[in-house]
Amino acid sequence: MPRILFSFLLLLLSSATSLSAAKAVRYDDWFADATLRLNYILSGTNTTQDIALHTMARTPLWAGRRVNLDKLLLEGNAQVELTDSATGRRIYIASFSTLFQEWQHSEEATQVRKAFEVVQLVPMPLRTAYATLRLYDSHRRTVAEMRHRVSPNDILIRQGKAASKHFVTQLHGGDAREGIDIVYIAEGYTIAQRELFLSDVRTAMEALFDHAPFSLMRDRFNIRAVFVPSEREDVSVPLEGKWNETPCGSHFSTLYSDRYLMTEKLFQVYDLLEGVPTEHVIILANTPVYGGGGIYNLYAMTSARQQWFRPVVVHEFGHSFAGLADEYFYDDQFETFYPAGIEPWEPNLSTLTDFDKKWARLMGNPSAMNEGIGVFEGGGYQSKGVYRPSLDCRMRTNEYPVFCPACREAIEKAIKYNTETIKL
Ligand SMILES: [Zn+2]
Repeated sequence: MPRILFSFLLLLLSSATSLSAAKAVRYDDWFADATLRLNYILSGTNTTQDIALHTMARTPLWAGRRVNLDKLLLEGNAQVELTDSATGRRIYIASFSTLFQEWQHSEEATQVRKAFEVVQLVPMPLRTAYATLRLYDSHRRTVAEMRHRVSPNDILIRQGKAASKHFVTQLHGGDAREGIDIVYIAEGYTIAQRELFLSDVRTAMEALFDHAPFSLMRDRFNIRAVFVPSEREDVSVPLEGKWNETPCGSHFSTLYSDRYLMTEKLFQVYDLLEGVPTEHVIILANTPVYGGGGIYNLYAMTSARQQWFRPVVVHEFGHSFAGLADEYFYDDQFETFYPAGIEPWEPNLSTLTDFDKKWARLMGNPSAMNEGIGVFEGGGYQSKGVYRPSLDCRMRTNEYPVFCPACREAIEKAIKYNTETIKL
């Protein structure tokens, strides 16, 4: 081929690529108004990981974002991507984290191979697509990847229920197709305690809307409460040999950490939520013992009967909604979560490897300076080598009343990413 023609072809190709890259993915061109539930099993040890598809289900209505569909806000520890099978074009991507990856940092993972459930809700493609699930390690390397076909005509995609059989109460907002849908689900409340649950949901919702920037953007949220009764009140406490049958199957001592109250039964939780417009799940546990946790774009959980309920439920949602990291630290963590030389993807921590992408800009902002924004060593469970944006923050202590400026900015970005077209 003559050289000049070859470069002309190259030019044509590159301009075609940039044209398609510039054109945003329009929801209605690619997706039905329906949700595809992807159930996966992640298994492995501290050094190995496998992904398997378990089952798929389809439910009417897509409650998730309809903007920025092919763009990522945060890298997360895992990603799910949909590509069109005919053109290879990315039509949807989302990031999240998993309990499995947290467990990989535990001592137990050096001794036994275990499996964990993961659920991701994605928009239902109109035409055959490929779904790819990827896992990353703390060095940001892809350590597992699995791709599978999603055909809208697949007879084994189960048709799910349109409406939940449980009591669903909408407490705030409106149409699920607009706005960010938060669902609170009851854990350990008896049938007689439905009003107590609803009052706890109201407390949690008010606590959230007491915090900027949620307070300033509350019209972008829809809040629903899903009541599912338990036979007995309270949740399981393995340290006391107490195992209660509860809707979400949660228990203390998750990953052998006494106060870590979580559930590994994600399939069960999402079965209960089937037909309820769901983007972010908050499990409220009817227990007087302090505990909970939050995993980015997976779920958050808190005990509702203890004095720190309000700050903790907001803190855990900071993890699950905005991917914020814990800003507190210890001196004796089993393994480092944030290795030197690797910039964490979490917006409120830095190893100062790529600090310009973090809160550097805010440090020239007078109001943020007034609030004491800076670079403080200690965060993400590590006393050395990891830096946080503020002396104190909702992501550090329960006593401190607000999110620090860097966390506020990260939350605002996450709200916008989900509700308006933004430059990423
Ligand atoms: Zn913060």
